[in-house]
Amino acid sequence: MSVSSDQLQQHAAPRIGFVSLGCPKALVDSERILTQLRTEGYQVVGGYQEADLVVVNICGFIEAAQEESLDAIGEALTENGKVVVTGCLGVKESVIRDRFPEVLAITGPHDYEAVMTAVHAQLTPPARNPFTDLLPDSGIKLTPRHYAYLKISEGCNHKCTFCIIPDLRGRLGSRRVDEVLAEAHRLVRDGVRELLVVSQDTSAYGVDRRYEAAHWQQREWRSHMTDLSRALGELGIWIRLHYVYPYPHVDELIPLMADGAILPYLDMPLQHASPRILKAMRRPAGGEAVLERIRRWREICPELVIRSTFIVGFPGETEEDFQELMDFLREAQLDRVGCFTYSPVEGARANELPDAVPTEVAQRRKRELMELQADISAAGLARFVGQVMQVLVDEVDGDGAVARSYADAPEIDGLVHLRGAAGIRPGQFADVLIEEADAHDLYGAVLR
Ligand code: SF4
Repeated sequence: MSVSSDQLQQHAAPRIGFVSLGCPKALVDSERILTQLRTEGYQVVGGYQEADLVVVNICGFIEAAQEESLDAIGEALTENGKVVVTGCLGVKESVIRDRFPEVLAITGPHDYEAVMTAVHAQLTPPARNPFTDLLPDSGIKLTPRHYAYLKISEGCNHKCTFCIIPDLRGRLGSRRVDEVLAEAHRLVRDGVRELLVVSQDTSAYGVDRRYEAAHWQQREWRSHMTDLSRALGELGIWIRLHYVYPYPHVDELIPLMADGAILPYLDMPLQHASPRILKAMRRPAGGEAVLERIRRWREICPELVIRSTFIVGFPGETEEDFQELMDFLREAQLDRVGCFTYSPVEGARANELPDAVPTEVAQRRKRELMELQADISAAGLARFVGQVMQVLVDEVDGDGAVARSYADAPEIDGLVHLRGAAGIRPGQFADVLIEEADAHDLYGAVLR
C-alpha cells in the first residue's frame, strides 16, 4: 500500500508544547495526557515558539515547588501566550489566577478529560492519520525506554498533618487489578525492563475496592498488594515498590523478594522514629514496631535494601525526639535515606502546632543526620565489593556506562559505574564484578 504525500503531511496538525514538573505520579499524568494528545492527532513539539498552545503540568506540594510551578507558567505565557495549566497546584486555582489571569484553563491533577476539553476549545483535533500516527500501545513515556512508572492508585485516605496531598488528589482510588496488569504487560512488550510501582500509599492498594478480584489471563487476582506483586513478579523483569508503609501485610511481600519474584527493595517513607512526633504527624502505621519488623524481614531476605525519608524540625521536635531518631537510624542501618527540614505547606494542619523549631536547629539536625547516614550508607555499600551483581544499564559512554543494581531506584538512589562496557546498550542487563564503593555509588567491571 502506498502512502501519498497528503497522508504524510503532518504540519497541519496543531502543535502542543508540554512542560512537566513534579513527582513520578505527576509524570504518569503527563504521560497520559501526551498519549491522549498524540492519539487524537496533535503534534507534540519541544519549543514554546513552534507550539500553538502549551500545557503545563505543575506540582504544588511544597512552597519551593509552587514557586517553580508559577515560574514555569509565567515563562510559558511570555514565550507562547496560550497556556493550559493542570496538576496539583491547579486545585488552588486562585493562586494561579491572581498572578496569571490570562491562563486559558486550570484543572486539578489526573483530570485528563478536562485538559483535553481545554485543548479542544482552542484547537480542533485533526483527523487521525493511520499511516503516520502509530503510537505504541503502552502510550507515550517520559522515562527512558527500559523503565516505567506504574501508577496503581490515586489519592490517599490518611491525614498526615504536614501534607495536603489528600486535599489535592482526593481519597484513595485504586485502579482495577486487571487494568494495572494489562498496562504492565503492554509496557514489557514495548521494551520496559523495570517497573516502578508508585502511588501515594502503595500498601493500601485495593482497600477502597474491598480487594475485589478480577481475571487476568485466566487467573483470578485480588486488587491487593500481595496479589499484584505476585502477578507482576511473573513478568520476568525488575519490579520495584515505592511508597510502602509498614502495614502488617507488608510481611507477605518479603518472601516474594527472597524468591526473586520482585526486587528486594522497599521504599518506605517513615518520616520519624519518635512515637510522640509520629503521633503529631498522624503517620500511617506509626505505631508498628518497625525495628523488630525490619530485623525479621532481613532474616527472611538478607539482601533486602530499604530506602526511607525523614523530616527533622517538625513543630515540637525536642532534642530528645531527634536523638531517638538518630538511635533508630543507628539500629535500623537503612541503606538509603533522604532528609528534609520541616517546611510549612499552605493549608497543612501542622502549621497550627505550637513550638516551631528554629531553622538553624532544624538545619543542624539535618546535617548531623546526613553525616551519620553517610557512614551507614558507605558501610552498607562496602558489603557489595567483591560480589557479582546484576545491573540494568541506563547510559553508555564509550567504554564506560552508568547502571543501577536492585539497590538503586532511578533518580533517587546511587549508581553503578561500569568499565569494560563496550558493546553494551542502554536497557540491557549485565553481570558486574563490584570493585569499589563510596558513600553512594558502586564501581565495577562488566563480566558479560
Ligand atoms: S500518607 Fe500522609 S504523607 Fe503520604 S500522601 Fe497520604 S497524607 Fe500525605
